[in-house]
Amino acid sequence: MFVDSHCHIDGPEYDADRAEVIARARDAGVTTMLNVGTGDPHSGAFERAVALAEKHESIYGAIGVHPHDAKLFDDAAEDRLINLAKQSARVIAWGEIGLDYHYDHSPHDVQREVFRRQLRIARSLNLPVVIHSREADDDTIAILREEMGSTGVSPVSQAQDARATSRAGVLHCFGGSLNMAQQAIDLGFYISFAGNLTFKKATDLQATARTLPLERLLVETDCPYLTPVPFRGKRNEPARVVETAKYLAALKGVAAEEVGRITSANFARLFLADGAGETPPA
Ligand SMILES: [Zn+2]
Ligand SMILES: [Zn+2]
Repeated sequence: MFVDSHCHIDGPEYDADRAEVIARARDAGVTTMLNVGTGDPHSGAFERAVALAEKHESIYGAIGVHPHDAKLFDDAAEDRLINLAKQSARVIAWGEIGLDYHYDHSPHDVQREVFRRQLRIARSLNLPVVIHSREADDDTIAILREEMGSTGVSPVSQAQDARATSRAGVLHCFGGSLNMAQQAIDLGFYISFAGNLTFKKATDLQATARTLPLERLLVETDCPYLTPVPFRGKRNEPARVVETAKYLAALKGVAAEEVGRITSANFARLFLADGAGETPPA
């Protein structure tokens, strides 16, 4: 049994054969998928993502404005997404949010501001966050530390912080350094590997995966992108998460089933813990 902790199957890439894609995932042993909505928050893109999660027992939803679209985030978008998260118990995470300095679709200062704003929204809704970070690792960790790190003000707030950080979120499609991964784990995050882990040139990433504890790892497809070896070049889909799990298992010297079992338990601990999606008492 496997979980695809990050996929995008609500989009037009799957309009022709979505039912088959979901069936193939089930047949491959992928019991659960987290479908992450992206796009213009004023366009209905997130309503579409939530509708898919409402329709299928095996699919949960995440909503949040991607750093590419940070410039589109405003008060109306905030209200719309918060209402959507509150309306559906199938929304179990806020994201993907973060920083992407590889592309300049939104100015970096706007990305940082919108990232902070959405971390606060997620915290107010008691939702774990899905973090996207590309070529922005230092800023990402600094902001996560400032917004989510322990304050240490009083024993009571420390206990609350411990509870919050125990299910802080995930760094998805991880491509950073071992040092970044370890800092994120210290902040309560999980690290999710996508199909790029299987690429021949990804030797640094493979060394990082070998070092990190399996109890803090997830696997994902990020489909339709990043199709793992040996299917590279084709459209990706959730069934392919098994290839990444197999690769990770080989790195760790354990059976693929063991990686499936542990990463599934990690997913449940992070996203499906009691209180997920509920507003904490004031
Ligand atoms: Zn991403
Ligand atoms: Zn994604």
